[in-house]
Amino acid sequence: MKKTTLQTIPPIPQTTTVACPQCGASVAWAPTSRWKPFCSERCKQLDLGAWADESYRIASVETADASEIENALTAFPPDLSRPH
Ligand SMILES: [Zn+2]
Repeated sequence: MKKTTLQTIPPIPQTTTVACPQCGASVAWAPTSRWKPFCSERCKQLDLGAWADESYRIASVETADASEIENALTAFPPDLSRPH
């Protein structure tokens, strides 16, 4: 039996809704939706915060690595004057 879905498609609503990337809530894709594609300012800030936090973490890890090597060299210098 063949389905006739093409003839039963409902009319496209004027307001398109998208899923909030942060929490998955339906967001009306309209000029009134100030924070689209997010549902609210909070979700937008959370998403931006996640990105900022991620880059901060990467930057601090690199800094820690460099200073750790330096600290290790300073704390344990090759002791050449030590008698046998
Ligand atoms: Zn949201």
